[in-house]
Amino acid sequence: MSLPDPIAKLVGSLTTLPGIGPRSAERIAMFLVQSEVNEVKQLAEAILQARERVGFCAVCGSLTETSPCGYCRDPRRESGLVCVVERPVDIFSLEKSGTYRGKYHVLGGKLSPVQGVEPENLRIGELEKRLMVEPIRELVLALGTDVEGDATSYYLAQRLSRPGLTITRIAHGLPAGTGLEFADELTLSRALEGRRELK
Ligand code: ZN
Repeated sequence: MSLPDPIAKLVGSLTTLPGIGPRSAERIAMFLVQSEVNEVKQLAEAILQARERVGFCAVCGSLTETSPCGYCRDPRRESGLVCVVERPVDIFSLEKSGTYRGKYHVLGGKLSPVQGVEPENLRIGELEKRLMVEPIRELVLALGTDVEGDATSYYLAQRLSRPGLTITRIAHGLPAGTGLEFADELTLSRALEGRRELK
């Protein structure tokens, strides 16, 4: 017996989400079609609202309801310190660690010749513009610890090098080959504290 068409469609949509395989998608779909209509409406509405109200900060590239975002506008944050991350979700990981008090810049990925990600596909030009207008004295590179994260860090260290700017990279100790979201708060705090200059 095959699934009723609307359920099959729902399963198809759910499997496009990150971390949701076919079996989880089926479980969620089955759960939803047996839930109260109002609860499903609330969920659908929450998804739509989040999508419609949240966009990218024009300065740092984080996810925000207002651009510039709260991090960029916060006068208590050290404006000379900018942490460079791959994705907006990394900001939430660093914020949870509670020790970082600077600003952010989201690259939007990392260099990957295999997947066709070239420097112009990342928000590097935007970062160069910030270096010209903001009083930035240190860039902390907090990219993943895999081969692409390494390559991207060295590329950035060379391209962005200029007088008066220190470029550091967070210490290793993050799980190898993973992103920041898999590191616990203490590991992230230590990785930040133990950052080293890249030359
Ligand atoms: Zn921002």
